Amino acid sequence: MKKIFIKTFGCQMNEYDSNRIFDTVKKIGFEKTDVLEETDCYLLNTCHIRDKAKEKVYHDIGRIKKSFRSKKKPFVIIAGCVAQAENEEMLKREPYIDLVIGPQAYHKINSRIEEYFEKQKKLEETDFDAEAKFNYLNQIKNSSSKVSSFLTIQEGCDKFCHFCVVPYTRGPEYSRSYNEIIAEAKNLSFNGVKEITLLGQNVNAYNNDNYRLSDLILEIEKIPEIKRIRYTTSHPRDMTDDLIEVYGISKKLMPLVHLPVQSGSDKVLKLMNRKHSISDYIKTYERLKKLNSKIEFSSDFIIAYPGEEEKDFNETFELIKNIKFINSFSFIFSPRPGTAASNLKLIDKGISKERLEKVQKQLFEHQILMNKSLENQEIDVLVENKTEENNKFFGRSEYMTSVIFDGNDEDVGKVIKVKINNSNQNTLFGEKVRKSEQKVA
Ligand code: SAM
Ligand code: SF4
Repeated sequence: MKKIFIKTFGCQMNEYDSNRIFDTVKKIGFEKTDVLEETDCYLLNTCHIRDKAKEKVYHDIGRIKKSFRSKKKPFVIIAGCVAQAENEEMLKREPYIDLVIGPQAYHKINSRIEEYFEKQKKLEETDFDAEAKFNYLNQIKNSSSKVSSFLTIQEGCDKFCHFCVVPYTRGPEYSRSYNEIIAEAKNLSFNGVKEITLLGQNVNAYNNDNYRLSDLILEIEKIPEIKRIRYTTSHPRDMTDDLIEVYGISKKLMPLVHLPVQSGSDKVLKLMNRKHSISDYIKTYERLKKLNSKIEFSSDFIIAYPGEEEKDFNETFELIKNIKFINSFSFIFSPRPGTAASNLKLIDKGISKERLEKVQKQLFEHQILMNKSLENQEIDVLVENKTEENNKFFGRSEYMTSVIFDGNDEDVGKVIKVKINNSNQNTLFGEKVRKSEQKVA
């Protein structure tokens, strides 16, 4: 047995990919290790979405070199979106790297590793071949057994928002076969998984033989062991009628809608090439709220996009106050090489920081208020595991908020009632409600 150490940067899809890479390399005799010093193979799954992504990778390799200074060097693989964007340049710049492999070429990882050991030749593999990748991976069982697991249904993007590197690093939009996804969901439930988050860079653009995301949700819902369904990340333009209507029918789809808006200004949305307007967005919000009043929204915001004036920023701020988003992400615009916005004139750093702070203060306030409103209430929690400290248990509310509470080992994997006693911005604290104490609805 050879050992592999996998480090993952970035989004949930990278996390899913890292697990699937491990399922794959197991076939050629690798086992996972969490002890860096004992590894034979170091795999870094990289993210290119913001900031000094490339430099972070070289910095990380520098650390590995140091750790292995007096030992045999591990076989070093760079995977993910930086690998795709930089390709053979990485092998030239850093001879410590042995294999560079992009996200749509993971089906070739075993043959490339074996080839390297036969010929000692460094390799770069960055073709876009999502179909071949999924055809290959469909034959390998997803071994994830976490209470809450990811399942990729769609990859890539054809929308080309001007700030975003995804269409270049993940390639064109591709939807996996409907039947294969259902088979993988059943297999996950067999492994003990209770919550599935369907993943895609444009997850609600999913379309395979006219099966849409709504069909997948309603079919997965039929698996008795699966208690909760989520999906991410979606685009406002693809919130189609069928998907909206599912919120009125589904018993297992969670009431948190993560729908990135990026900006509250139509002018900025146009500059970003987002192809949706604020009035469309608000209409979607209102329709969903009407169908199910429990629904709350979370979002992604890009602050200080080139051309964002004070007036535009104020529109973003107003939108945040109106919709009262919870659990959102906000970042200052970060120019990405190769994208349409890469060379635009940046907004002054001080102003950008000030705007970000103002937005985050407002977003956090909503989060704190939302959590406070749950104090003294009994809420449904899916229990994920026991915490390392204090012998407490960890789970999540329907809105993905972390819940720490006193419970029992046998509750792991179950949805139970927890009475919330306390809260802060990110966490709810409480105790399990015994069956005999549960309020009658
Ligand atoms: N497909 C989703 C959508 O259409 O909104 C977003 C997926 S993108 C991988 C995740 C988030 O990263 C975006 O919603 C955006 O807020 C952020 N992001 C992407 N490029 C960025 C950039 N150049 N600078 C700052 N944030 C960026
Ligand atoms: Fe990037 Fe999303 Fe725009 Fe596609 S739709 S380019 S993934 S932000």
